[in-house]
Amino acid sequence: MTSVFDDLVGQEHIIDILKGAVTASRTGAESQEMTHAWVFTGPPGSGRSSAAVAFAQALICPNNGCGYCNDCKSAKTHGHPDVEIIRTEGLSIKVEEIRELLTRVAWSPSMGGWRVVVMEDADRLTESAANALLKAIEEPGTRTVWLLCAPTLQDVLPTIRSRCRHLQLRTPSIEAVKNVLINREKISPAMADFAARVSQGHIGRARYIATNESARSHRELIMQLPLQLTSLAAAWEAAQTLVEIATEEANQISESRDEKEIERLQEANGKGATGRGMATGAAKAVKELEKEQKSRATRMVRDFIDGALLDIATFYRDVMLAQCGISESLINADMREQIESNVANSPPHLTINKINAIMAARENLARNAAPLVTCEALMCQLARK
Ligand SMILES: [Zn+2]
Repeated sequence: MTSVFDDLVGQEHIIDILKGAVTASRTGAESQEMTHAWVFTGPPGSGRSSAAVAFAQALICPNNGCGYCNDCKSAKTHGHPDVEIIRTEGLSIKVEEIRELLTRVAWSPSMGGWRVVVMEDADRLTESAANALLKAIEEPGTRTVWLLCAPTLQDVLPTIRSRCRHLQLRTPSIEAVKNVLINREKISPAMADFAARVSQGHIGRARYIATNESARSHRELIMQLPLQLTSLAAAWEAAQTLVEIATEEANQISESRDEKEIERLQEANGKGATGRGMATGAAKAVKELEKEQKSRATRMVRDFIDGALLDIATFYRDVMLAQCGISESLINADMREQIESNVANSPPHLTINKINAIMAARENLARNAAPLVTCEALMCQLARK
């Protein structure tokens, strides 16, 4: 029999725990196996939110998460009355949003089982939002199950994480990602191999690369950047190019989505309706949405730059391997020649410095440093010989 847990790639170590919890949850009581607050952690792309959503489906499905029934399907697409999936598009989750959520989930589940809240970015809770949530998690006897997702346990407030059961996801192997692309997405073996390798076990990114030609050509441009750093002027130009590519890619995704959202909102508010109050209310809502969209676009540009920096880091990682005399298992096997010419260009300790500089730039970006300035500073460091 198929199960929603089949989709979790490389996470066998937690599937048994989740299945056990689902079985225990049928009694309706809290037990050692089934508790009402969980934290899923794992590196980006390991599928922590997919794991949480699968668990939510299994909890409300009469067949323990078959993946096919109405409950399973609607839970995944935000259409189930007892399942809330909180996906943040902004940089943080504010206390108002949590308060609103708490009113929505205050009543008992409509189907009699559990009400499940999946919070995909629990690391983005502001402190006051986290404190509001903490009160709800502490409340005994409710029928609500909280599934929080975050990159690491340290990203969750200690008071919250101490009340949650923790599940740590692993980065799936390149082989496992490749097989999913071939078997489930019907992608050719050669493309699946390339996409799995360059995305380093990040299944969402692998799928995106394998199915999106413009993403592939952007990636190609980005991987050329380390080769172009022949002078300081070139370094500044490379930074500019990187930010431009990230902006373009973010815009491509945003534009059509933004328009649809505005349209939907206007329809919901009765487009063309007369009456002063209504029109003002609708205009205000549109303005709010536009503000949200802008903050989402900013975040997407940052996310793309972050992904690009990780890609560039794989180049230096390959250079370092080659400098140690290991020429198999290159991530960028297609760039072997350029990698080898870089081996001679600079000593190994400089390569390590460059990788560290990339990671430091990523951290700065995560702390809201200005993208262009951060990239300029980084490219100048990468240009050093
Ligand atoms: Zn089902």
